[in-house]
Amino acid sequence: MTAAAPSPLHQKLKHLLHPWEHLGDRPTLKRTMLGHAEGIYVYDREGKRLIDGPAGMWCVQVGHGRRELAEAMAEQAMKLAYQSPWGLGNEPAVQLGEKLASIAPGDLNTVVYATGGSTAVDTALRFVAFYNNVLGRREKKHIISREAAYHGSTYLSASCTGKDREQNNFDFETRTIHRISAPNIYRRPAGLSEAEFCRKLVAELEAKILEIGPERVAAFIAEPIQASGGVVVPPEGYLKACWEVCKRHDVLFIADEVVTAFGRLGHWFASESVFGVTPDIIACAKGLTSGYLPLGATLISDRLVQAISGEKGQGVTFFHGFTYFGHPVASAVALKNIEIFERERLLEHVQELAPYFQGRLRELRDIPIVGDVRGLGLMACVECVLDKDSKEPLKLDKAIGRRIDEHAERLGLIVRPLYSMCVLSPPLIITKSQVDELVEILRKSILLAMDDVRREGLWQG
Ligand code: PLP
Repeated sequence: MTAAAPSPLHQKLKHLLHPWEHLGDRPTLKRTMLGHAEGIYVYDREGKRLIDGPAGMWCVQVGHGRRELAEAMAEQAMKLAYQSPWGLGNEPAVQLGEKLASIAPGDLNTVVYATGGSTAVDTALRFVAFYNNVLGRREKKHIISREAAYHGSTYLSASCTGKDREQNNFDFETRTIHRISAPNIYRRPAGLSEAEFCRKLVAELEAKILEIGPERVAAFIAEPIQASGGVVVPPEGYLKACWEVCKRHDVLFIADEVVTAFGRLGHWFASESVFGVTPDIIACAKGLTSGYLPLGATLISDRLVQAISGEKGQGVTFFHGFTYFGHPVASAVALKNIEIFERERLLEHVQELAPYFQGRLRELRDIPIVGDVRGLGLMACVECVLDKDSKEPLKLDKAIGRRIDEHAERLGLIVRPLYSMCVLSPPLIITKSQVDELVEILRKSILLAMDDVRREGLWQG
């Protein structure tokens, strides 16, 4: 990220340690400070307008500057800003629970509130361990995750993360957490068709379960589309086949829908509507409040809750929960957010617009350094390569994604750079002409970044 000159505000940045901050860059890192935002646009403090390409962090679904959400927040804060979830309850949290159960797939009717995505995933993982302990299956603790997955930043959710886990200087849990291949079609072994690749991946999951022992494997955790792993859309039928394998071996299927829920793929939840999977547990957050306030939720199947309730639950307490469980203000915002979705038919809007969005972005494939453009719904990734045949990633001293982001920002667009990739997930309210504006700026930015690396002798195209 760039900024014109170090302002007094920038000088005070030294007091913050941001997520994923590179410590070598810290003294010099300039980041754009935003002043305000409206619709799909954010404005820096000098008033420069930028398209919010990643919708904040995959979350500002209904767009910025929604007065209704601010009013819902203020109204609830004045009525009841906080209440202890230990022994007490509040109306918005209860109403939201009922609403979530009504839009969730299958019998996922029990809601555990969390403070965001990581804590929702953490809750899912802890619940699974708790569930098996209550059932007397103390060995059934192992979790299978995938390379390139991102599940959060708590100890447990980060332990399930596949991305760079080994290089990040944290000591994660490795004894009970296993990883299998990411379902990345673009990077599948040469010579394999998509269908063969799919079979290979599913066989790998089954082999991993058998290697550990089904009686020791508690759950498989998966993002329906790996988001920050580079918008990895799995092969046709992959998730459903993984679900079948899990059912066969009594392994629970946890869907991490922190990114894919709340309209990103044109549905409340993607697991069942898009991929035909009814998970045992879904973790969600982000779009639940459109990012206006932090809130996460873990939705659990009745079947699981009932199995450890009543007779089985005698003397058993669910020793898990957060001070901000069912926060009344966050719940009121989530309810209003869902109301906006319904009134403005945002799910239908995404379903209608997605083919256009994906189609326009795929036009970028004619650029020499663009190896792949992939995505579904309103989430997409542009991956740059040195050479389209070898698919060698364009990883340079300063990753190409960052170079593209810098040009894009100058031209009026924020993209999310991820090494050799740029990820896009705009607010769901984006229109066709705004998609055109986004794609035009992105094309210019990629071409400019390509000229830079050619000029610097880093790429010979
Ligand atoms: N799961 C997925 C798929 C995510 O993309 C993220 C965050 O980007 C998380 C979990 C963690 O969410 P949070 O940052 O709200 O804790």
